[in-house]
Amino acid sequence: MTPSDIEAVGLAMHALATELYPHCRSITGDGVRTTLKRLSREIPLTIHEVPTGTEVFDWTVPEEWNIREAWIKDAKGRKVVDFANHNLHLLGYSVPVHEKMSLADLKPRLFTVPEQPDLIPYRTSYYKKNWGFCLPHRDLENLEEGEYEVFIDSDHTQGSLSYGEYFIPGATTEEVLISCHTCHPSLANDNLAGSAVAVALAKQLASQPRRLSYRFCFIPGTIGSITWLATNPNVYPRIKHGLVLTCAGDEGAVTYKKSRSGIAMIDRAMQQVLKTSGDKYHVEEFHPYGYDERQYGSPGINLPVGCLMRSPHGTFPEYHTSADNLDFIKPHCMADTLTKTLDAIEVLESNACFVNLKPMCEPKLGKYGLYGDGGGQRTGEFSELALLWVLNQSDGTNDLLAIAERSGMTFRKILTAALSLEKAGLLRRENQPTPAT
Ligand code: ZN
Repeated sequence: MTPSDIEAVGLAMHALATELYPHCRSITGDGVRTTLKRLSREIPLTIHEVPTGTEVFDWTVPEEWNIREAWIKDAKGRKVVDFANHNLHLLGYSVPVHEKMSLADLKPRLFTVPEQPDLIPYRTSYYKKNWGFCLPHRDLENLEEGEYEVFIDSDHTQGSLSYGEYFIPGATTEEVLISCHTCHPSLANDNLAGSAVAVALAKQLASQPRRLSYRFCFIPGTIGSITWLATNPNVYPRIKHGLVLTCAGDEGAVTYKKSRSGIAMIDRAMQQVLKTSGDKYHVEEFHPYGYDERQYGSPGINLPVGCLMRSPHGTFPEYHTSADNLDFIKPHCMADTLTKTLDAIEVLESNACFVNLKPMCEPKLGKYGLYGDGGGQRTGEFSELALLWVLNQSDGTNDLLAIAERSGMTFRKILTAALSLEKAGLLRRENQPTPAT
């Protein structure tokens, strides 16, 4: 993609997040369905509905939750908290209620963050039946004594859990899994940015030649990946690489959290891309908390799935509050997350082992138009030093990624050199290396 393509894609991703932002997503319900339907206008998603009560490993698909209206009125009949103004105002999965009560009785049902008095916090109660409201602490402090009327028009039904899946076949059946969560209401970075980047990634991959196949899952966090894993055991053996995409749009540096093994090819590819990007970045070791990488990386499943994000969850003050809004995510940051993901995918697609066919000292590169005055190949990613690295290391045991790691050069430079040498008859391609898991 050219820089102007990338800029346009950044704006398109932000526009998609903007459209999706108002919907009240949760782990089940119509907010998720509406979101998946909108995504399926961008990419041909298959929408799956898994019935309430389905046993998924140690879990059970919960009742479906839908919400129509929720508010608190003061003694004068004025709405002091209204779900219609912001869907974070309601404790997610609240049961229905219509009662009058004193402020003292209402207060235990009101959630605020006193340290961030202007923000609405995000709270849920998925597995314990409860109801409540979330509001800025300043608004709580302004509530007067008196009788309040609370109303929540929601229901919990024997419905289903909805998720979206898009499979893009490649030349081989080896798969890359891209997973993102679609279960948060109006939260931009923690939710929508990941989905928007995944959509742009899927479109790009669908438009280019592919050695690998790609499977995109748009699922509710935790229960969604558990449900997918429990119902798709036949797919695991084909998954050779994977990424959870989340918090993909803020201005923080890119953070990569390694897969459970820490030595999978996706771990090496992502780290090499970040190291040679010239940008700040962080790498985290695997830990069994965070997003769905912990389900994909549970011991009985053990898929090589890392997590790509910008600022990690819980480390930015906007996290799980109304400040994680559309201003907090930036088109150029989403574009940067996309570009780095595509760079890592280039490694997965193109990594290979080669054998130097003239290993007795260096071949005289000028004879092949690769050195000195010969040839016009010295454009773009072409590097004479990369030629020397590839020739020196290509004894059939070092793949191109290992050569990139050892030389400190970008994978693309090393790949470009290898392709030039192959074309000149100086290298022979061995089989594609088997990825470590
Ligand atoms: Zn979250």
